[in-house]
Amino acid sequence: SLDFAGRMAKKLGAPVREETVHAVDGVDLTVRKGEVVGLVGESGCGKSTLGRMVAGIMPASNGEILWHGRPVETLRGAEARRAKLQTQMIFQDPYASLNPRMRVADIVGEAPQVHGLVGRGQFESYVDEQLRRAGLDPSLKRRYPHQFSGGQRQRIGIARALAVQPEFIVCDEAVAALDVSIQAQILNLFMDLRRELDLTYLFISHDLGVVEHLSDRVVIMYLGRVVEEAPAEEIFARANHPYTQALLSEVPRIEARKKTFAGVKGEIPSPLNPPPGCHFHPRCPHAFERCRIERPALREVAPGHKSACHLNDKS
Ligand code: SF4
Ligand code: MG
Repeated sequence: SLDFAGRMAKKLGAPVREETVHAVDGVDLTVRKGEVVGLVGESGCGKSTLGRMVAGIMPASNGEILWHGRPVETLRGAEARRAKLQTQMIFQDPYASLNPRMRVADIVGEAPQVHGLVGRGQFESYVDEQLRRAGLDPSLKRRYPHQFSGGQRQRIGIARALAVQPEFIVCDEAVAALDVSIQAQILNLFMDLRRELDLTYLFISHDLGVVEHLSDRVVIMYLGRVVEEAPAEEIFARANHPYTQALLSEVPRIEARKKTFAGVKGEIPSPLNPPPGCHFHPRCPHAFERCRIERPALREVAPGHKSACHLNDKS
């Protein structure tokens, strides 16, 4: 179970006051080896925070991260470094994380060299292999990031991640900034790499449509809590939670659902001051009295399918 209570500066005129915000509130997330888990919710729901905690680049204020069954904070030395390297994160904007003054070859080859994954004589061939895997022409490796398109830059970011031989990749909105046709190419690349390299993914997106074809399991988050979790087919065929149903209605391809639900109404409330009871109640078309008072527990509604909604107690 993970919590993240960060300090967020809240402007109440002057002076600026700091308040605790529970960006992630008692979330249990398991990603099994070889699995692709889609983590979905609107921006501000805590999914990026959860992704960063899982990737080990942000500490949890409560709870623990297990790596192959062991708490990461108990790992030491070479093992701790390996656990860190074996989890890589890919972000929405690769350009922001690519040093503009470094050539692609050095961007991709730096970390494996520092960590002794590649010997001196093999540097060039090692870099070429990573670029080829990511679908880039190795003959372009002397160029700088600005000489590439958005999709190619994302491929450079992927080559850099692959270069440290990860087992587990956390993608945070990795295709959100790309044109739809390029999105499909990059998603296909992720799936090819999964087969080729036996990778495990946590795939974070605000768009259920993006995770539909690549996830084995889908986890839906709303204001720091998991509200539904199920095998992907189950989420798309039999979504239980009203929030998931509303998100589904926004996926253009799933025409049948459009008639029943009209998207998620209203703005997502501030995580500084989440509504009591079920966080979703101010926007839920099915809310009733209990929803305003009591927090619904995440409970199994079918094998492997959990949902946190009081409607499941009404029969
Ligand atoms: Fe809607 Fe109530 Fe279910 Fe929350 S618990 S999703 S408000 S019906
Ligand atoms: Mg985000």
